[in-house]
Amino acid sequence: MMTKTTTITNTSTNSTAADMHDIQPTEPPVDCQACARLVDLRRQLQDQFPDWHNAPVPTFTAPEPSLLVVGLAPGMKGANCTGRPFTGDYAGDLLYKTMLEFGFAEGVYQARPDDGLVLKDAMITNAVRCLPPQNKPTGEEIKNCRPYLLATLDANPSVRAVLALGRIAHDTFLTALNLRKALFPFAHGAAHKLPGTNLTMFDSYHCSRYNTNTGRLTEDMFRSVFNGIREHIPHE
Ligand code: SF4
Repeated sequence: MMTKTTTITNTSTNSTAADMHDIQPTEPPVDCQACARLVDLRRQLQDQFPDWHNAPVPTFTAPEPSLLVVGLAPGMKGANCTGRPFTGDYAGDLLYKTMLEFGFAEGVYQARPDDGLVLKDAMITNAVRCLPPQNKPTGEEIKNCRPYLLATLDANPSVRAVLALGRIAHDTFLTALNLRKALFPFAHGAAHKLPGTNLTMFDSYHCSRYNTNTGRLTEDMFRSVFNGIREHIPHE
């Protein structure tokens, strides 16, 4: 199912991974210029809020993670401000609380990148590393950033489970792997074995304040997704 652009798989050999890393880094440059609209917004915010991160947000990871949590893009006052995925906004409050409960993080989450929290057997990234206006990246921006997502996967062959936070992250991840979205419809609580990889993708509604305030996602519903992930990745 993979195309030439998705020759990076979780089953790649070390030599393939090393070759790819020579070509494609896992992290974009801090001044990545690939998406003009996002660069414009970044510059505006750098002028307006010079103390904020205002740059591509790097992946947050434990060594040799089994779980990859994928969001769509940084939130303005969350990761774009603090520089750590899902840190500083409501979505992070629920995500890190739940990851701590299920043993995928250790420490105390204090919504700051220097709070000492560490991930355990997990990593968190965004499909689009820069803040998009209205939290909505364009298809071209998603495509521009896809090589970093694929390189991150390739560099972490230990990943066996992917948690897609929201339908757009789900669709973006499938597209990145060149898999047909129609074959893997998004549904909260669904688990999809992804052919051509050793990955199972778990779907959840996004843990945003809007979804929790409206009751679309309750803490119990979010926990039940993590229960499924924990069955797939038992505690060592
Ligand atoms: S979204 Fe990705 S590709 Fe686009 S400017 Fe940011 S880091 Fe570069």
